[in-house]
Amino acid sequence: MNATTARILVADDDPTAQLLFRSALKIFGYEVSVAADGADALRQFRSNPFDMVVLDIDMPVLNGHQVCAALRSEADPLLPILMATGMDDIKSVEDSYREGATDFISKPMNWALIGHRVKNLLRGHKTMLDLRAAVAHNAAILQAIPDALFEIDGDGRFLNYHEPNLHLSKEPAGETRIGKTMAEVLPPAAAQVCMAALREAERFGASTGKQFELQSSTGNCWFELSVARKSTETGQQPHFVVLSRDISKRKQAEHKIQQLAFFDSLTGLPNRPSFLKRTEREIKRARRSGQQFALLFADLDGFKNINDTLGHAAGDKALQWAAERLSEAVRSNDPIAIADESGGHAEMARMGGDEFTALILNIASAQDALRVAQRIREVMRKPFVLGGLEVALSVSIGIAIYPQDGDTAATLLKNADTALYHVKQSGRDNFRLYDTVFTTFARQRLELEADLRQALERAEFSLVYQPQIDVASGRIQSVEALLRWHRPGRELMKPSEFVPVAEECGLILPIGRWVLAMACADAMQWQSEGYPVRIAVNLSATQFKDPELLPSVLEALANSGLPAERLELEFTESAVIENTAGTVSALQALRESGVQLALDDFGTGYSSLSYLKRLPLNNIKIDRSFISGLPDDVESCAIVHAILAMAGSLKMHVTAEGVETSAQAELLKNMACDQLQGYYFSKPVTAAEMTELLKRNGAAAEQAAP
Ligand code: C2E
Ligand code: MG
Ligand code: MG
Repeated sequence: MNATTARILVADDDPTAQLLFRSALKIFGYEVSVAADGADALRQFRSNPFDMVVLDIDMPVLNGHQVCAALRSEADPLLPILMATGMDDIKSVEDSYREGATDFISKPMNWALIGHRVKNLLRGHKTMLDLRAAVAHNAAILQAIPDALFEIDGDGRFLNYHEPNLHLSKEPAGETRIGKTMAEVLPPAAAQVCMAALREAERFGASTGKQFELQSSTGNCWFELSVARKSTETGQQPHFVVLSRDISKRKQAEHKIQQLAFFDSLTGLPNRPSFLKRTEREIKRARRSGQQFALLFADLDGFKNINDTLGHAAGDKALQWAAERLSEAVRSNDPIAIADESGGHAEMARMGGDEFTALILNIASAQDALRVAQRIREVMRKPFVLGGLEVALSVSIGIAIYPQDGDTAATLLKNADTALYHVKQSGRDNFRLYDTVFTTFARQRLELEADLRQALERAEFSLVYQPQIDVASGRIQSVEALLRWHRPGRELMKPSEFVPVAEECGLILPIGRWVLAMACADAMQWQSEGYPVRIAVNLSATQFKDPELLPSVLEALANSGLPAERLELEFTESAVIENTAGTVSALQALRESGVQLALDDFGTGYSSLSYLKRLPLNNIKIDRSFISGLPDDVESCAIVHAILAMAGSLKMHVTAEGVETSAQAELLKNMACDQLQGYYFSKPVTAAEMTELLKRNGAAAEQAAP
């Protein structure tokens, strides 16, 4: 509105007053319209509203009060209305204000002042309009801000409050926060954060970034505060403007990123990097407090089998199961759980594959860790159903204790892993504490492996031979080749000390080929000297699985010239049982080449009769452990009887291993065992010594013949 062009309506029934108003206001540049009575004034205003209205009180049709009341009910509430009242008519002044008048001038008028009065009122009106626009503007801005905005005093008391409709911390309908403190309105933790932000703003003028969490029916929400201290009169308590932003979405995103970086997506457990960090933290804490804790390293036994036979989806399911069970065992609320006894707690992680770790904090002794390991073992044993099949998993666990087994996360983990390795080596499904001996052992093993790699080319292997006596004729019917290693600087080594290592590092294949060639050559030599004995050669599981086995057997036969039926291959049950599908056809192919097949160490493995039936075997060798019980141990006798009866029905020959006494030999002869082998007849001897044995045995047999 421009002051010079303001439009003013003057209502007065006195023509002289009309004239004087008009000229007095025109001097100030206003545009003046005149109404002669109240009804005329309303009519004119309605057809084209004015910036200000001046009303005489006594007018025909409608008096000034009535017009004032009408305008107040229909015009802009800020419209300035000036009433002209009698000088001493106090009641009329009061009535005017009651009807909504802005101001009054008293009659008789001072016409020289009236323009100033109007100008002043219009200026006030303009200020009011500006203020109203500013308030509207601010309201619109607030509406556009998605955050809650409030003002509080130094005690945290709400002075005013704005919050958008969808704000999750919105005050319940019908309740107001105004006048209440934050401590009354918010949960203690949130109120504490808000007050801390307030104190910071009090000192430094502003505070940003403080966050707090609130529970709501739709889930938890996070808020971030920006607080500004408001300038107040000196000596007055400061006020604060607080902006509270809903950052729940950002928090969710941060959480997700955190999850991806530090958690395993399959099981939801922390992953390797976060476990290592956690362990480092615990080391610092334990160092300060002088406490001990245990690091458990668990590996599922036979998991690879599940993955290979039932598929990866089943494998994943099994891992989730295992993770749940391990957590259950480690964190159990059961009163025997160490975690509850000591007031400490445990942290689980998945290291990758089927490897899991746990920290058992604040233990009193290694015994506490062993108890948790035992619990884990028991819980894991319960079978679970996978794709309709009942599957059982067992677990092997290695344990390292801080501080005795290491003072960094990496060392503790490595040592727990070493202990785990030893559990795996000694039959799995068990647990073990780390022992420094393991490290010595590991070094020795590495040396052994290194020496073994050179043993073949350095010609450090040799074969010894042990005769197998045919019960019916009393003659040496066959000879078993047994491997020896002349390791430099050491005593002669037996196969049990190095064959498992050779198996693990793949050296058993070239070594096995050497044994075959050597044994066939020696047997051929005996044959050419007139002692056509059969030669028995031991094969390990790895050799049995080798697709090159048959070709290498044929090659050894061809190179030596030994007839195939003079070669017997010995397998242990575990070697043939591991690979059921391919087993029968592999054995069949060997049989078709003409060689004989023997099952070694029978009775120590699965010994399933129905399974044996399907294998094309010639010979079953009863393990030494049963023979050593003869003739007195009733159970051993029964077992040997049973094996002989079973083999008879399957038309297989039976060899008794480890015959050490004449009583055992007598009994086995009476039981109609086919062949005997053992120290009673001869210890394993060199090839040259074997030649001598054959000469004597052959001569004895000839003498015995009719
Ligand atoms: P095995 O095939 O069961 O061989 C019999 C083992 O019992 C031999 O031990 C032999 O010395 C021992 N023995 C024989 N008679 C008696 C007896 O009356 N009393 C006692 N106490 N022991 C007796 P060795 O030579 O230490 O061989 C151990 C095992 O190593 C063999 O058991 C066989 O499984 C394996 N092995 C031997 N040579 C080879 C080989 O060339 N290749 C592979 N893969 N394994 C072999
Ligand atoms: Mg053998
Ligand atoms: Mg044996």
